Amino acid sequence: MHADLVPRSTPRRWAVAGTAVLLLAGCTSAAPEQSLPDPAPGCPAGRAAPAADRPVVSLEFRLDDDRRTVTGTEALTLTPDLPVDELWFRLVPNAPQSSPNRLHVDAVRGPDVTGGEHVDASAAEGSPGGLYRVDLRETVPAGRPVSVELDFTLRLTTERTPAGFDRFGVDEDVTWWASGSPLLTWEPGVGWARDPFVEVSGETTAAAAADTTVSVSVPGDLVVLMTGAQETPRAEAGGRQVWTSHDPVAREVSVAVGAFETATVRTGATAVTAGVLPGSGTSADELAAETVEAIRLLEGRLGAFPHPTLTVPLVEDGEDGGGEEYSSSILLGSADSGLVVHEVAHMWFYGMVGNSQFRDPWLDEAFASFAETVAPDGHTHEEDLDLPGDVGGPMTDFADQDDYESRVYGKGAAALEAAREAAGADAFDAALRCYVDRQAWTIARPPDVARALADLPEAVDVLVRAGALDRRDAEAVAD
Ligand SMILES: [Zn+2]
Repeated sequence: MHADLVPRSTPRRWAVAGTAVLLLAGCTSAAPEQSLPDPAPGCPAGRAAPAADRPVVSLEFRLDDDRRTVTGTEALTLTPDLPVDELWFRLVPNAPQSSPNRLHVDAVRGPDVTGGEHVDASAAEGSPGGLYRVDLRETVPAGRPVSVELDFTLRLTTERTPAGFDRFGVDEDVTWWASGSPLLTWEPGVGWARDPFVEVSGETTAAAAADTTVSVSVPGDLVVLMTGAQETPRAEAGGRQVWTSHDPVAREVSVAVGAFETATVRTGATAVTAGVLPGSGTSADELAAETVEAIRLLEGRLGAFPHPTLTVPLVEDGEDGGGEEYSSSILLGSADSGLVVHEVAHMWFYGMVGNSQFRDPWLDEAFASFAETVAPDGHTHEEDLDLPGDVGGPMTDFADQDDYESRVYGKGAAALEAAREAAGADAFDAALRCYVDRQAWTIARPPDVARALADLPEAVDVLVRAGALDRRDAEAVAD
């Protein structure tokens, strides 16, 4: 998600009007669980569980009656696996690509807290800064929980941001914000991710999966579609409603508030709720059916969908629309079916198998683009294999937007497609499921990919030639 674009050669839409969609929805919801081959030798028998000592986050948002000011409080507890002197938060709305949206930390408190400060980190000019540092009274040793509360104000703009379709937006009957609160940037085993923001429009966060509860107070009878399993809203004074949700493994949170018409369709163990705005060219039923079909196709390749719920608000339906993936929620600026497959694939790659989007952007974007080929008429990227430059490398490596997209999305997906062909589809798919199961709810690194492919040297060779994997990493794992 950097506002993922609609895949360049747009595949034919699967969703068709009327009864066909209803039939599709009915049939998928009743379909038996798909069975995958037994795991290969050396693979985990099941998926890794999330860490018991992962961060616990509580987010309270209040959308003002102006529908473009969000105030909130974030309470969290981190149990660090390394000693910490400070806590660091990333203020994503202050990135150059999302200017002039603004996030300001108004107050910070906690038993170990002495104060806090905004830090520039190459954020947009005029913003309070891209990072926020919380100072602690003394070093907190590994294994001791530290708790903090932050009050914040998010100001959203109706202006088009440099990102185009963005994770923040206000329109006539909808307001949405994702990564709209201070984001704890703790990478277990590594420490704080204090990466600078870049001009290239792409994600740059690294966040541990966290046990997250969210509440959102909204004016009137607006509908909320967000991260997590949602409860029925309750009435609040002033003609407002409060919506709540819980996601035990959220890295980041998305919230969309609007005059949504919704439809819920079940597939396997997952309930998909799609929402569209009045006047949309797509119905909620169609969008839910399209999403369910994407889940079924991807489960056939990658194993069970990672969440019990998925919300899919279509907040725009424009020609330059894209998508933004969040934990158990996807913001859509287009109902294009290829885009829906890409965003649903991110629930495995980024949502479940996490990565530093600054350090290793290919670990989510190349894999999600590669996954587009699960659709019978899905977009292949094979023509991009010979594009110049390495697939791997951090966000500071890319000369411009085109360089980033062609190397990470295009060439990255092409390299994974070629690696699958070189190793044989069944063997590659089994190794990919191993990778997904072993790295579930962690922040993966390229050597983890090399380890999963250690018995498939043909695949490793392809990824090394494309500059995705480093030869030394691959050799160290093979030894
Ligand atoms: Zn993407």
